[in-house]
Amino acid sequence: MRDILDTHSHTLASGHAYSTIRENAHMAAKRGLELLAITEHAPCMPGSCHDFYFHNLKVVDRNAYEVPLLLGVELNILDTRGNVDLDLHILKQMDLAIASLHTPCIRPGSREENTACYLNVMKNPYVNIIGHPDDGRFPIDCLALVQAAKEYGKLLELNNSSLRPMSTRKGAREQDLEILKLCEQYQVSIVIGSDAHVDTEVGGHDLALALLEEAGFPEFLVVNGDVERLKPYANAYKATEEGFVFCPAGGVGMGGCDRW
Ligand SMILES: [Zn+2]
Ligand SMILES: [Zn+2]
Repeated sequence: MRDILDTHSHTLASGHAYSTIRENAHMAAKRGLELLAITEHAPCMPGSCHDFYFHNLKVVDRNAYEVPLLLGVELNILDTRGNVDLDLHILKQMDLAIASLHTPCIRPGSREENTACYLNVMKNPYVNIIGHPDDGRFPIDCLALVQAAKEYGKLLELNNSSLRPMSTRKGAREQDLEILKLCEQYQVSIVIGSDAHVDTEVGGHDLALALLEEAGFPEFLVVNGDVERLKPYANAYKATEEGFVFCPAGGVGMGGCDRW
């Protein structure tokens, strides 16, 4: 299966990750990727960076590294209403936004409550991807998740790190298989993310690819095969009234440059 992009990685800025932007980009290039997203944990994750970090991403030239970058965020979903931990005016500037449930930021609720977290965060137009919806500590209604992803035009992530034997996300494999089956049935696209916390993990999608193979999942529903497939979902390529727009050829700019 063609796989040329990684939409989920962390650097030192996330507080419990160990590499730099340059190191992550180097590994991405070495592995043949054509696009890498760096998605630091949002401020409610203990040890991660302040709002200012995200606001100031405008100074980073997305084209100054060995592969083109998207610079974004992995938001924490804070409650069943789908509130997240980055102000809207900053969130609007993110090239890519993943929204995830993390135990340091929200306690697992009932199946209905966990599902409500996802359904409501998907109403946020600046959320692009639901991160690791496979976490067995947060049981969910997979059918409702997949149907909402279709309705709101969001990607569901197949997280490679969740599938590692040492992962704390128990039951991920079973929940992923159920989600994949429904995604095929309802024609909902997915994205593989490494969730790398060190450069050696960037672009590491081996376990996710093996699971897709096992499930017989159709390749055209995996956006990792082509940057064009990612574009309809990512803030970076959407026209917005205000805020940052990604300029593929000329670095970054506020508002006035050409949009994809
Ligand atoms: Zn996460
Ligand atoms: Zn992550």
